[in-house]
Amino acid sequence: IRGTVALVGHPNVGKSTLFNRLIGQRKSIVDDQPGVTRDRIYGLGEWLTQEFWLIDTGGIQLEDQDFASEINAQVEIALEEADVVIMLCDAQDGMTQDDIFIARKLQKSNKPILLAVNKADNEKIRLGIYDFYQLGLGDPMPVSSTHGLGVADLLDEVIKLL
Ligand code: GDP
Ligand code: MG
Repeated sequence: IRGTVALVGHPNVGKSTLFNRLIGQRKSIVDDQPGVTRDRIYGLGEWLTQEFWLIDTGGIQLEDQDFASEINAQVEIALEEADVVIMLCDAQDGMTQDDIFIARKLQKSNKPILLAVNKADNEKIRLGIYDFYQLGLGDPMPVSSTHGLGVADLLDEVIKLL
């Protein structure tokens, strides 16, 4: 096993959906309601014969936590346990204050960070992801976790960093 990859992002960006796609089983709970994943979830991912642990940090949230403490807990776990962090944003919502808040925290570490912009389901939406350059986390990579688009390119980058 090459290392550990953590998914970080505000509720409802699609962390659990991407997690399930990457580990190939429905292990993390996906729901339309933000904040449904209750357990901290680990899974084993594989790409081009390379195995890695994946953490869905959305699983660490507790009931009644406010956004800031929830995100702080996610980022703390990701930075402690992961070798590579994937920050996930939502292409359909566009860049939010929450994204800026999370990106600032991640920038303070020396961990390699990949910026993936989820829900980029079609060409029109993909064209809008360039706003996310402003987060200062490098090139935003478009993915659609429900359709599987862009996931191969993202995994190629993950493997390079592990
Ligand atoms: P989490 O809170 O970050 O774990 O987000 P979830 O994985 O639970 O997903 C939240 C919602 O976004 C669900 O309704 C998903 O079906 C939806 N979703 C996830 N990925 C995509 C995607 O690539 N495209 C679209 N259109 N919806 C998505
Ligand atoms: Mg979740």
